[in-house]
Amino acid sequence: MNASTLPDRLRDIVGAGHVLTRDGGADLAAFETDWRRRWHGRALAVVRPGTPAEVATVVRACADAGVAVVPQGGNTGLVGGGVPDDSGTQVLLSLTRLNRVRELDAANLTITVDAGCVLHAVQRAAADAGLLFPLSLAAEGSATIGGNLATNAGGTQVLRYGNARALCLGLEVVTPLGELWDGLSGLRKDNTGYDLRDLFVGSEGTLGVITAATLQLFPRPAAVMTALAACDSIGAAVRLLELARTRLGAGLTGCEAMNRLSLDLVSRHFAQLPRPFAGRETPPWTVLLELSDGESEAHARDAFEALLADALDAGVIGDAVVAESLAQSKALWQLRESIPLAQAEEGLNVKHDIALPVSRIAAFVAATDAALAAAFPGVRLVDFGHLGDGNLHYNVQAPAGVDAAAFLRDHERAVNALVFDAVAAHGGTFSAEHGIGALKRDELARRKDAVALRMMRAIKAALDPQGVMNPGRVL
Ligand code: FAD
Repeated sequence: MNASTLPDRLRDIVGAGHVLTRDGGADLAAFETDWRRRWHGRALAVVRPGTPAEVATVVRACADAGVAVVPQGGNTGLVGGGVPDDSGTQVLLSLTRLNRVRELDAANLTITVDAGCVLHAVQRAAADAGLLFPLSLAAEGSATIGGNLATNAGGTQVLRYGNARALCLGLEVVTPLGELWDGLSGLRKDNTGYDLRDLFVGSEGTLGVITAATLQLFPRPAAVMTALAACDSIGAAVRLLELARTRLGAGLTGCEAMNRLSLDLVSRHFAQLPRPFAGRETPPWTVLLELSDGESEAHARDAFEALLADALDAGVIGDAVVAESLAQSKALWQLRESIPLAQAEEGLNVKHDIALPVSRIAAFVAATDAALAAAFPGVRLVDFGHLGDGNLHYNVQAPAGVDAAAFLRDHERAVNALVFDAVAAHGGTFSAEHGIGALKRDELARRKDAVALRMMRAIKAALDPQGVMNPGRVL
């Protein structure tokens, strides 16, 4: 078999209706372009298997034909890892037909789902059983569990529940040789040799195709409450986080920070959303706190109000609002979650998904804001992120009136070098939760420890000797 006969072979495996080709008149644009519209590829074919066994046969057929496979879930990834390159020679493997909830074990607090299940559907299945699946991110209406695990997604609840890796107990995977590995398990303890599950979590489709996962569930809190607080500086926002951690303990389930420009862009592009500090200038930094309480709403409100009163007395915050209802809570979260969309409306920017020790965030922001302003006069910083776990989306937007695409073309490299050097100097990482994909591959080669890179390449060569899985991504 060769590449030209492969589409017919794929039709035999999954049925003609589930193989899309340009020659066959299909519109592949939705699969070939990423969410940011930054990456535009060209696939040999898009194949949509309906079972794990079909995934295995598809991968084997591609390997036999010497054709690369690019797995794709919801296509919400932000680093160009889930769309084909522009060679027209890669098969795009869409997992979205694998969308069954296989089993929910309430006594064991686990759920086993197909990889193509949309994150929101998994949250809902858990909620229907009176339980919580805590992974939460703004793209949860489209992103899939397979993509979440392949990227080791973070999101808004990491400070309490950990990232996707921490929530995953077992995996089912199709290897690059087309074997089906059944590693599904609801065990919290299983020390039987190397942890293969952790190898596939965060591997971004380069080591195999995740077809299903067993995930941890948690009891639902009795009450969830949200507040917004105004801070004069990122240093004050960090002090508020410290205070909230001390006072609320494990009840603190969310702590997001947003700089003034982030919220101003939301106001500009989504005028229908509420303005929490209406009539006043947006504060330099706004912090969204979420409290999950095991007792009751009244208990949660008392704890929140006491915390915010103390923060006000100590001069850590200037003002605060506590949501009065679930609808108000959702509206406050919507402000935060609309920032990526508002940025997209404003035009492309140089995105950075960095993490730092919380203790060094204030020093990093002060030094790097100043260095960027000096090097690129007028540059605008759209900074927001998951302050509770030290993850900032420290994004650099062209000066007002400057063409965004031209700014990116002329300055992206220099901006990255400045920001990533500062991140390294402050003990951080240049990739916190979005992964490496194609976007940060060269950065990984430049900045990752040489011994770590050698081990990563050895693992890739051992599992995928033909280089079938998502070539050109990560390594
Ligand atoms: P895709 O984009 O389809 O793929 C991502 C990568 O995973 C690719 O390399 C792909 O090849 C691989 N892959 C996909 N499915 C499989 C599979 N079954 N087996 C093997 N490999 C696979 N991310 C966060 O971590 N935290 C956030 O808070 C967050 N917020 C976001 C907000 C917005 C508005 C958007 C657009 C994105 C956000 N993201 C966030 C990024 C994105 O949603 C996550 O990376 C998500 O986990 C990707 O899931 P997906 O199904 O869309 O994967």
